[in-house]
Amino acid sequence: MRLIFLGPPGVGKGTQAKRVCEHFSIIHLSTGDILRAEMAAESEIGQKAKSYIDNGELVPDEVLLGIMDNRLKKEDAQNGYLLDGFPRTIPQAEGLDSIMNNISHSLDGAISLTADEDELVQRLINRGLESGRSDDTPEVIRQRQKVYWNQTAPLLEYYEQKNLLKEVDGLGDIPEITERILSVLK
Ligand code: AMP
Repeated sequence: MRLIFLGPPGVGKGTQAKRVCEHFSIIHLSTGDILRAEMAAESEIGQKAKSYIDNGELVPDEVLLGIMDNRLKKEDAQNGYLLDGFPRTIPQAEGLDSIMNNISHSLDGAISLTADEDELVQRLINRGLESGRSDDTPEVIRQRQKVYWNQTAPLLEYYEQKNLLKEVDGLGDIPEITERILSVLK
């Protein structure tokens, strides 16, 4: 099983991604987590990514495509994966198509988690109080929402045209949402 998770910041992609990965015994690849690990290690990629992340902007496509090209070739990615937070732009989606093509992988679905925007901003402000994530401040949260609607939302149409898009209501109990996701994948 090879899946993509789409949805605005705060919709619960990370939480649901972990549960869906457990269900299918596939790996969870969150580009946000990968970039935060690079920042913590103060690697070259991490240093490059930091100012974009702290301002709620997207890290350049070529950085992400380089990371994913290496990552999807690794042994542990050969039994399936769920991509959480990638792709985020049309060039990333096109790049992913060619990366996957080169290693004879095909996508099984693009799950789009949906929710009301005001609810999401409030959830993220609450998360920021606990997570200590440098980009969970009200100002950066609003910027991240804007970036989602401008740069990432066009991917809904992209995957719709490929007949891969599956929309799932992201509001409700955590287990209930997981059930909804699993049922659209049947
Ligand atoms: P996330 O944890 O998915 O919300 O990502 C946190 C931040 O990492 C984003 O606001 C971006 O700055 C950066 N980031 C994560 N994934 C990507 C991506 N696919 N393309 C560009 N930037 C990304």
